Amino acid sequence: MTTVLTADQTAVTASEKVLARLKPGVAGARGSLTVHDPFDGSPLIDVPDHDAEQAIETVARADEAGRAWAATTPRHRADVLRRWYELLVANAEDIALLITREMGKPLAEAHAEVTYGSDFVRWYAEEAVRPAGNLREVPTGGARLFTRRAPIGLSVLITPWNFPLAMATRKIAPALAAGCPAVVKPAALTPLTTLFAVQLAVEAGVPADLVHVVTTSDASGFSTAVLADPRVRKVSFTGSTGVGKVLLRLAADNVLKSSMELGGNAPLLVFDDADLDRAVDGAVAAKLRNGGQSCIAANRILVQDGIADAFTEALAERLASVRLGSGLAPGVQLGPVIDDRAVARLSGLVEDATQRGAKLLTGGSAPQGPGTFFEATVLDEVPADADVVTTEIFGPIASVQRFSTEAEAVARANDTEFGLAGYVFTQDLDRAFNVADRLATGLVGINQGVPSNAAAPFGGVKQSGLGREGSGEGLEEYQEIRFYNLALR
Ligand code: NAD
Repeated sequence: MTTVLTADQTAVTASEKVLARLKPGVAGARGSLTVHDPFDGSPLIDVPDHDAEQAIETVARADEAGRAWAATTPRHRADVLRRWYELLVANAEDIALLITREMGKPLAEAHAEVTYGSDFVRWYAEEAVRPAGNLREVPTGGARLFTRRAPIGLSVLITPWNFPLAMATRKIAPALAAGCPAVVKPAALTPLTTLFAVQLAVEAGVPADLVHVVTTSDASGFSTAVLADPRVRKVSFTGSTGVGKVLLRLAADNVLKSSMELGGNAPLLVFDDADLDRAVDGAVAAKLRNGGQSCIAANRILVQDGIADAFTEALAERLASVRLGSGLAPGVQLGPVIDDRAVARLSGLVEDATQRGAKLLTGGSAPQGPGTFFEATVLDEVPADADVVTTEIFGPIASVQRFSTEAEAVARANDTEFGLAGYVFTQDLDRAFNVADRLATGLVGINQGVPSNAAAPFGGVKQSGLGREGSGEGLEEYQEIRFYNLALR
């Protein structure tokens, strides 16, 4: 029977102190929203439940504050962002505790998210002072074109629950660096980390009204009202493809510049010539990071016939030994999934796959007792029409399929409407690039399972989204290009 480890009491007490430091958002909400600990479902804290009218008030206030911010010097914005970064680092332990309490991931992974998430703030502190324009010759002569990138204006930033810090900082930091005000709507399940991070931003010198965090249980009412407001010029969303399409339709009415980081169905390809240990390490990282609740999680593991037995055996052995429990339990590797609907969905995926003929090598069920847990699971020889192959798993289930030729692997990898991440494991450099070039994905991890960082232009193709986050490209998402045509005598 799978044991579920319980929380370390010292860490629980420390996390209660962080909760007490939170100042939950704009005052005057007419209702409240309870945030729960996914470990046992217990209530953590109430935050305001803002309605659409209050959201529009934040738009008005952010718009007003944004005028002065757009006129600040790039160096000033860089210095403020740098101070924010330093405060995030100084408060790393507290932020990690908050992430774990509201989202459930193991504390060590929450610390990794703090490093990853705060690095976007450091990156955009550096980017803020880079040149934002150029000079061009007009082809017919007689004039010169100056281009400049101006702040796009008020940006609405909507984030999911899986990386409560990083998904917020990778939107807020470039918006601020570019000179834009922002209204942020975190997921109702996990608003606390965003509230705390923005509290630190204000401490660092971000004007109080420049960035508003709107906590609400009415996501649809929020987006319908706010995206129709003429003061809003940009929407950036991370979440499911279904909601992304709804937001794109709303954005169309106001012709908003839109960035969409949507769902994925990442293929992970292991070729016969791969280094077995690296492939297994990479697959474990790409599958189990965040309990598999990541848009770039390996969703379909495709393994070539010659290495398939050795690979699946090693993968099953690794996943069978994974320790489940509270994110605050020492040595835990897999926290709870986000809620009981996720447990039911994952159970359904395993049932569907095994009924269609897949072999269950390890895991496959929810352990007894409280908490929304699901065992680390390996399914082998999964048929192509199983739900676990055609849909986003978003949980700790590794689904393995076998292939014989490179062409077959690439065709199957691309047989999806999604195109966010792909992974290739091979020791043949030629093959690595050839296959990576043919994968219809925005990013490819070659011989590694954690490809994202602040320097990477992260984003998808096909129905995985529009636009890029991180890197210099991530800043351009909050800018618009203008040109001046200067006639020469
Ligand atoms: P979700 O789409 O249900 O919710 C994301 C956010 O949208 C939340 O803040 C939610 O409150 C809000 N939302 C829901 N309905 C809305 C509406 N009608 N109007 C405005 N906002 C609305 O997604 P989720 O379950 O929180 O996150 C999981 C999904 O996010 C997965 O599909 C995953 O792949 C995707 N994701 C993508 C990336 C990426 O960078 N591409 C990163 C993380 C997660």
